Amino acid sequence: MTPTPLEHRIKARIRLDGPMPVFDYMGVCLADPELGYYMAREPFGKGGDFVTAPEVSQMFGEVIGAFLVEAWERLGRPAPFHLVEFGPGRGTLMADVLRVAKRQPAFVAAARLGLVETSPRLRAKQATTLAGGPLAPTWYGAAEEIPPGPLLAVANEFFDALPIRQFQRDHGAWRERVVGLDAEGRLAFGLGPTALPESGLSQRLGAAVEGAIVEVSPVGVAIMTGLARRIAGAGGLLLTIDYGYSGPAFGDTFQAVRSHTPVDVLERPGEADLTAHVDFTALAVAAARAGAAVHGPVEQGDFLLALGLAERAGRLGADKDEATRADIVAQVERLAGPEEMGSLFKVLAVTLPGLALPGLPPSRTHSEVPHP
Ligand code: SAH
Repeated sequence: MTPTPLEHRIKARIRLDGPMPVFDYMGVCLADPELGYYMAREPFGKGGDFVTAPEVSQMFGEVIGAFLVEAWERLGRPAPFHLVEFGPGRGTLMADVLRVAKRQPAFVAAARLGLVETSPRLRAKQATTLAGGPLAPTWYGAAEEIPPGPLLAVANEFFDALPIRQFQRDHGAWRERVVGLDAEGRLAFGLGPTALPESGLSQRLGAAVEGAIVEVSPVGVAIMTGLARRIAGAGGLLLTIDYGYSGPAFGDTFQAVRSHTPVDVLERPGEADLTAHVDFTALAVAAARAGAAVHGPVEQGDFLLALGLAERAGRLGADKDEATRADIVAQVERLAGPEEMGSLFKVLAVTLPGLALPGLPPSRTHSEVPHP
């Protein structure tokens, strides 16, 4: 197969500058302004590379919409406030949220809709999806661009798209995992020359066997810290849903998907979706350190069912034919079933200390969140 245009560019850069950290490779593959995956490809849906929860069923966004309206009530109905989605993809989740939120006109009247999205192509898609809805969006390139004020934010499969760093245990030291070229000139993993100081990772992780890999998400932690600080100051909520685990843990979760099939992460750069599982402990610790409170993480299935997913499915199917009802049941199973998204995906909310939220455990603050 001929190399992708981005592969040519990455190889040229490696020949010039030497191997690049996994962090840079993932960042370039996803976000190169011209050839990056989210800039150039149509990732979502049956004809794309993967299917996300809002694309499985409108019920996902509807349940989240009802949750956001209830959270807004419990926050004391701030007005105005910023209703923001991070990484909205096709805009499907927000369209479903707004359809439900319209039933509470005071919520819609107070909301300023913001979408944090870097891809111009996806921004255009989002504009089309949300056209004719109750709120006209403003796009932001990053969280810092959102004007001050209370914030109600949602992020589904956003943190898993942010580049990670990987470190590997090598002869008793931690070295950064890099992407270089093998003897045949193909992209290949290697290790950076500099060993990390023994203190940091080893203290957090304990003894590691030769070859063990750990991952950190500096961008994810920085974004979470900024949002938590903002919420602790101006009030609000962040609801984040992702494929993830409660770290610290060893393991390589860097993965690629193309046309619904797992592929090698070094194959077809720019044409495969690259993700890494989210370390929810790292996000929770970052939020708590910034002065906010965290709820969860809990499994997506438990969260959606506690918020009435099954009842919503019943209402949606009430006047439908048998085939449509079977579809709706299958969607519930996909979103909430233990073998499917229900337990693989986790939900973490960040709020002001003391706020109780539907479907989520009581909040924990800095002193209650274990710091690995
Ligand atoms: N939430 C959507 C799409 C998830 S894919 C869904 O569930 O269907 C990840 C989304 O995040 C894409 O829209 C992508 O363009 C966007 N994205 C990735 N990195 C980003 C960054 N650093 N800042 C803003 N958006 C980003």
